[in-house]
Amino acid sequence: MTSALAPNLMVDIVARAKRVGSVAAAHASDVDRNSRFPAEAIGALKAERLLSIMIPKVLGGEGATTAQICEVCAILGQNCSSTAMIFAMHQIKLSSLVAHGVEANWHRDFMQTIARDQLLLASATTEGGIGGDLRNSICAVERHGDSFSLAKDATVISYGSVADAILVTARANPDAPSSDQVMVVAVKGQYTLDRTSLWDTLGMRGTCSEGFKFNCTAPVEQILPKPFAEIAAQSMLSASHLFWGALWYGIASEAFNRAQSFVKAAARRAPSVTPPGAMHLAEAAVTLQTMRATLKEGVLRFEAARKKPDTMSSIGFATAINNVKVAMSQSMLQVIDQSLLICGILGYKNDTPYSLGRQLRDAHSARLMISNDRILLNTSNLLLMARADSSLLGL
Ligand SMILES: Cc1cc2nc3c(=O)[nH]c(=O)nc-3n(C[C@H](O)[C@H](O)[C@H](O)COP(=O)(O)OP(=O)(O)OC[C@H]3O[C@@H](n4cnc5c(N)ncnc54)[C@H](O)[C@@H]3O)c2cc1C
Repeated sequence: MTSALAPNLMVDIVARAKRVGSVAAAHASDVDRNSRFPAEAIGALKAERLLSIMIPKVLGGEGATTAQICEVCAILGQNCSSTAMIFAMHQIKLSSLVAHGVEANWHRDFMQTIARDQLLLASATTEGGIGGDLRNSICAVERHGDSFSLAKDATVISYGSVADAILVTARANPDAPSSDQVMVVAVKGQYTLDRTSLWDTLGMRGTCSEGFKFNCTAPVEQILPKPFAEIAAQSMLSASHLFWGALWYGIASEAFNRAQSFVKAAARRAPSVTPPGAMHLAEAAVTLQTMRATLKEGVLRFEAARKKPDTMSSIGFATAINNVKVAMSQSMLQVIDQSLLICGILGYKNDTPYSLGRQLRDAHSARLMISNDRILLNTSNLLLMARADSSLLGL
C-alpha cells in the first residue's frame, strides 16, 4: 500500500518491517506449535522502533499514517499472523492515545515513554458476562480522591502477561449505566493479573490470549479524558477494522503466493499444458484484488473522515467501516481455501513449501474477533436509517 504523504518514510518503514518479517517467519512454526509468545519478532519490532511509529514526531514517534501502519500489518501478516495481530492490537491501543490523549499531560508523557522504551500495549475490552460487546461493561471505575481502583473479569487479554501496559474499558463509576464507559491506562506495576483461562486454540496461537482477573489502582489522570463512546467511534473501531483487515490481507497474500509458486512449478514441469490449478489461481487473484481495493478504500475513507468529525460519526461511515471488517474476514478464507485446492496434499501437509494449515487456522479467528454476527446486526440497524451510498466519487 502506498502513501502519498511521506514517500521516504514509507520506503524506510517497509524495509524495517520486512526485516522484522524475516525474523517472524523464521520462528512462526515454533510459535504456532508451542502456542508461545513470538518474543524474537516482538524484540525485532522494538529494535526497529516500529512500536512507536504512530506517535507524533513531537512526542518521539514518526507520525506514521494509517496507510503506513496497514502496510506493516500486511507485511507481518505474510510472515507470522500472531506477530502481525500483536502489532495491530498494540497500534489500535496507541490510536486511542494519539487521537484522544495528546491534550492530556499524563498521556502525552506516556506516549514519550512508549517511544523511548518501545513499550508494548495490550487491550482488555472483552468481559465475562458481556463477551465481545465492546460498548457495554459490567466492571466500574471507583474513584478514591486522586486515585481509582478497577477490578475486571477480563476473559481475553492477548499477551497480557508480557505487556507493559493494558488499556481497559469499564463503566465510568459504580452507578453508571453499562454503556457509560471510560478507557483507562494501567501500567505494569499498577495491576495484578490472576490467570483464569489458558490459550490452547485452533489458530493465532502466539497471541497468548489468556483470561485474567484484572485488578488495578492508579491515579485518576490515567483515565482517558473522552468518554469511551467517542473513543470507539472516532478511532478505535476504525483502527481495529483497518489494521486487522491489513494483516488478514497479508495472510491471504502469503497463501496466494504459495499457490502461485505451486502453479508455476507445475507449468515449468509441463510447459505445453495449462496447470489444472491455474483457473483457481485466477479466481483467487480476483478475491485478493477485491480485498486490497476494499482495504485501500477504507483507509482513504478513514483519513478523509478524520478531517470532518460529522462524517466520522455518520451512519454511512460506520456502515462502510463495518463492511471492511466483514468483507476482509470472509474473503481471506476464500483465498486460502482456493489456494489449498491448488496446492492439494502439499498444501494440506505441514512440512512443505506450500503448507497452508497455519494460515487457514489463523484465518478462522477473523470472523470471531468482534463477531461478524454482532457487526452485521449493527449494520442492519444502521441501514434501516440510511440511504445507500451509490456515488463512486463520494469519499
Ligand atoms: C486471536 C484473538 C485475540 C483476542 N484478543 C483480545 C484482547 O487482547 N482483548 C480483548 O478484550 N479481547 C480479545 N479477543 C476477544 C475478541 O475481540 C472478541 O471480543 C471475542 O472473541 C468475542 O467472544 P465471543 O465469541 O464469546 O463473542 P460474543 O460477542 O459473546 O458472541 C458469541 C456468539 O454469540 C452470537 N451473538 C452474541 N451477541 C450477538 C448480537 N448482539 N448479535 C448477533 N449475534 C450475537 C454471535 O454468533 C457470536 O459468535 C481476542 C479474540 C481473538 C480471536
